[in-house]
Amino acid sequence: MTRYSVFAVAREALRHHRGWTRAWESPAPRAAYDAIIVGAGGHGLATAYYLGKNHGIRNVAILEKGWLGGGNTGRNTTIIRSNYLQDPSAAIYEKSRSLYETLSQELNYNVMFSPRGVMMLAQTEHEVRGYKRTAHANALQGVATEFITPERVKELCPIIEIRGPRYPVLGALWQPRGGTARHDAVAWGYARACSDMGMHVIQNCEVTAVRTENGRVTGVSTTKGEIATRKLGIVVAGHSGVMAERAGFRLPIESVALQALVSEPIKPCMDVVVMANTVHGYMSQSDKGEMVIGGGADGYNNYNQRGSFHHIEETVRALIETFPIISRLKMLRQWGGIVDMTGDRSPILSKTPVEGCFINCGWGTGGFKAIPGSGWAMAELMARGESPLAAEFGLDRFREGRFVDESVAAGVAH
Ligand SMILES: Cc1cc2nc3c(=O)[nH]c(=O)nc-3n(C[C@H](O)[C@H](O)[C@H](O)COP(=O)(O)OP(=O)(O)OC[C@H]3O[C@@H](n4cnc5c(N)ncnc54)[C@H](O)[C@@H]3O)c2cc1C
Repeated sequence: MTRYSVFAVAREALRHHRGWTRAWESPAPRAAYDAIIVGAGGHGLATAYYLGKNHGIRNVAILEKGWLGGGNTGRNTTIIRSNYLQDPSAAIYEKSRSLYETLSQELNYNVMFSPRGVMMLAQTEHEVRGYKRTAHANALQGVATEFITPERVKELCPIIEIRGPRYPVLGALWQPRGGTARHDAVAWGYARACSDMGMHVIQNCEVTAVRTENGRVTGVSTTKGEIATRKLGIVVAGHSGVMAERAGFRLPIESVALQALVSEPIKPCMDVVVMANTVHGYMSQSDKGEMVIGGGADGYNNYNQRGSFHHIEETVRALIETFPIISRLKMLRQWGGIVDMTGDRSPILSKTPVEGCFINCGWGTGGFKAIPGSGWAMAELMARGESPLAAEFGLDRFREGRFVDESVAAGVAH
């Protein structure tokens, strides 16, 4: 792999950029691998990366039915934060956020991590109480957040109308080291690093069946042929239910479309991320100047990657109350992704009823922020059979009623 650096750019500039090599290989599948990951989204690629880096398992294939990063990883609004309420959630999201801090250096790929600060507005008394509670919980968990006053909100984000009309800003939960990163770059950076370790990232290769013998995984059938393995990681987000059925078990997951939109680019006017859970919308400004706006999930299960117009209307109408400045902006484009929702709004990182088969899903509307931490934990689970970070997120919790309830922290779809 060519190491990216200022010297490499200068050297290539001198020879008309003819010396760059491909960022990752596109090999044909082998007959067998030590481990196979289904799904080349951020979580699947990060799992493969940490399998190689932390556990020395490098004879690995990552199989992707479309193009890598073409699922939710390339469709999300890139918010990164770790201000969750429950201890197991704060642990895995904070691990993830801290890995993001140095991910560009680690992967030698600029993921454009921008810890510009994330605020969650409190616009009802109920939210004030809830966020103060989260700030106290975060203090105990070692996650740096604070509850700030409306005046401080206005200082940090002058374009907010804090006086109302329907929902005045009463304060906010502020995480100064939360922020954003470039979503495609996260997938590309992990893919490049995996390929550099000799792993196979195989695109246009759908897994159509999981082969088992005596309750143990033996391989997968794919659109590029049969491939054997004794360790299988299913990491397919919105298609987790479909893949679980192919492996012979059921998941407590619902798949729904979640959508987002961006405005035409404008001059810099907002250098923090703001989430407004009560009116149900959130906004940040991209480096290109577009206002990146996320809304709610569809109210019915579906696999439609487009979303519906009434959601855009609702989201924008709600946000205009808090940000009157956006009322005359034009929408540039809109898109949707299929998110995998659990009942307690927490992920599933787990062994499955099929021996040798592991599942990582249920990140729902908020899994981009979790990519490095989730990959770290899933790799540990696959390599060693257990992971402290994943311990509370097993499938057993649904049978035992041991939920990790994050419905408040995940209140707005991000
Ligand atoms: C509009 C929107 C906004 C969001 N905003 C945020 C945000 O601001 N912050 C945040 O933290 N999270 C956000 N999320 C959630 C986040 O995007 C996801 O939780 C995360 O990207 C999931 O990553 P993944 O790798 O698990 O899934 P994906 O990136 O979806 O990857 C799964 C891959 O599996 C592949 N696949 C499926 N079936 C098969 C098969 N049978 N064989 C082979 N491959 C298969 C798919 O093609 C896909 O590429 C948002 C999501 C959406 C849709």
